[in-house]
Amino acid sequence: MAKIPAAQARMFKNTFLCKRCGAKVRVQARKILEGKVQCRRCKKKAFRAAKKG
Ligand SMILES: [Zn+2]
Repeated sequence: MAKIPAAQARMFKNTFLCKRCGAKVRVQARKILEGKVQCRRCKKKAFRAAKKG
């Protein structure tokens, strides 16, 4: 089933996954880049962008 690119961008653009525990956080990408975001589960600051799938 085809998905709508705009909707996907909206869903994944500001969503990041904790590299350590996999918790999902939705926050502005800029804050991730600035290192201002902590995982609320494990307090780590390592995140990766969420990908579709
Ligand atoms: Zn975590």
